[in-house]
Amino acid sequence: MTDFAATRAMFHLPEGVIYLDGNSLGPLPRAAAARVAAAVTDEWGEMLIRGWNAAGWIDMPARVGDRIARLIGAPPGSVVMGDTLSIKVYQALASALELVPDRRIILSDTGNFPSDLYMADGLCRTLGRGYRVQTVAPEAVEDAIGPDTAVVMLTEVDYRTGRMHDMARLTAAAHAAGALTVWDLAHSAGAIPVDLAGTGADFAVGCSYKYLNSGPGGPAFIYVAPTWAEVARPALSGWLGHEAPFAFAPDYRPARGIERMRVGTPPILQLAALDAAMDVWDIADIRDVRARSIELSQAFLAAVEAACPDLSLVSPRDPARRGSQVSFAHPEGYAIMQALIARGVIGDFRAPDILRFGFAPLYLGPDEVRRAAAILAEIMQHRLWDRPEFKRRARVT
Ligand SMILES: *Cc1c(COP(=O)(O)O)cnc(C)c1O
Repeated sequence: MTDFAATRAMFHLPEGVIYLDGNSLGPLPRAAAARVAAAVTDEWGEMLIRGWNAAGWIDMPARVGDRIARLIGAPPGSVVMGDTLSIKVYQALASALELVPDRRIILSDTGNFPSDLYMADGLCRTLGRGYRVQTVAPEAVEDAIGPDTAVVMLTEVDYRTGRMHDMARLTAAAHAAGALTVWDLAHSAGAIPVDLAGTGADFAVGCSYKYLNSGPGGPAFIYVAPTWAEVARPALSGWLGHEAPFAFAPDYRPARGIERMRVGTPPILQLAALDAAMDVWDIADIRDVRARSIELSQAFLAAVEAACPDLSLVSPRDPARRGSQVSFAHPEGYAIMQALIARGVIGDFRAPDILRFGFAPLYLGPDEVRRAAAILAEIMQHRLWDRPEFKRRARVT
């Protein structure tokens, strides 16, 4: 059984803050500060260019990728780090489409994160030739898979509501119809058990700065199923995905396996932070994390519903059908969230009216969840949100 007091001790959280936004940006792992400092002074500072070999920088994208692979049910050598998630969505999608050359439709759902849909749309415009994105309601995806569906591209856990797709079922349905799958694990990796190999997913991508705590701008990951690893052609054919980057050959030849999904120079300082952040998984079991996250989110949900009748739950009530977050809607959601943040309870707001609360048991306990619900109740009962300073919108919500 995971010792959550021990995992909590591995994170720095500011005094007086109850952090319910680790689904958007994880907090600082204490080891990351020291590790990044060492990478800056001992590696960059002292080794200079020699760090690529001497400090193993060149191998970091695959080495750290293997640590994430263990969390998402992927075999060693099937995950690599680099770029941002939006780029990785594009890359996975482009590779998947090439593997199903006679079909033209990317099927997704209307709840998907806008960047995923924007990237898919941009790719279709570049490809021309009748490629298009089709979006349907999340519940209608399975029935919408058809003979012209090339790729089913879904985010497993909805960023707004926390609603969870059945990855195994939809992957099987896509395969039965001759389509491939691209799964976005942005709100899954580090939050819920994922079994990429078991479900037969073809491609998967995700970010590391949410439940994996790599810090702002931390690199994304990409998974390619072993079936496709040697045949998928990377549309973003950068030099570090070349078979022999330092041969500086005029023609592109993809590297063996997952290495071909690398593009350019990896962000070494962010990878150092992520590598340190992954240490917590040496003592934490994702199944324990999931069980505890359900306890915490159910307790929060019950307390908020009992005390705040004006907030309407927009997440699935059944915890088995949602990821590690709970969301409520209210027309004044933005102001309510600002009032909460002013009292030290940090969640976030998603347009048009959603208050979003993430539960990350690695550093969040039942007492904090109870206190957060009590503060929210006070804000609602006394309309403490109804002040001009809470209604001024910042650029980032
Ligand atoms: C967080 C998130 C992103 C963000 O993409 P970046 O390129 O890292 O900014 C994309 N897609 C989904 C589903 C997300 O949850």
